[in-house]
Amino acid sequence: MQAEQDKVVYFHYSVSDLDGTEIENSRRGEPMAFLFGHGNIIPGLEQALRGHVAGDQVQAVLEPEQAYGVRREDATQRVPKKYFAEAAKLKPGMTTVLRTDHGTRSVMVVKIGSSVVDVDLNHPLAGKTLSFDVEITDVREATPEEISHGHVHGGGQHRH
Ligand code: ZN
Repeated sequence: MQAEQDKVVYFHYSVSDLDGTEIENSRRGEPMAFLFGHGNIIPGLEQALRGHVAGDQVQAVLEPEQAYGVRREDATQRVPKKYFAEAAKLKPGMTTVLRTDHGTRSVMVVKIGSSVVDVDLNHPLAGKTLSFDVEITDVREATPEEISHGHVHGGGQHRH
């Protein structure tokens, strides 16, 4: 079965920057799973996997526009400390998770005040050209429920 619209694709991947420094590697855990065609993974990687089947190895070098976007210089925002899980542990330069109405997102701490924190909303990998090394481990039909929700159920990816 080919990776395409409304299929669930399981894969292992590693991603490096252009210096060859490994940034992430899924092979220490379970394969990742995503529902094809619903914006669940970065667009360039989804397009690179299109049409591939279980067992295929796929290499893709993605410019920032096809990965996590270009860095925006005006993406700093002042956020009340209560939105951070562990505000007391924050330090400038570290990446932390911010809770929002739309879920969580990674931000970089720029500056810490007494009641607010200035954060950089750029994705930590924004502005980087990334080299992906992917192995597709399985492709299956999505359930109607998964398609209506727009994401994969089970496999440790998502809980209701
Ligand atoms: Zn769901």
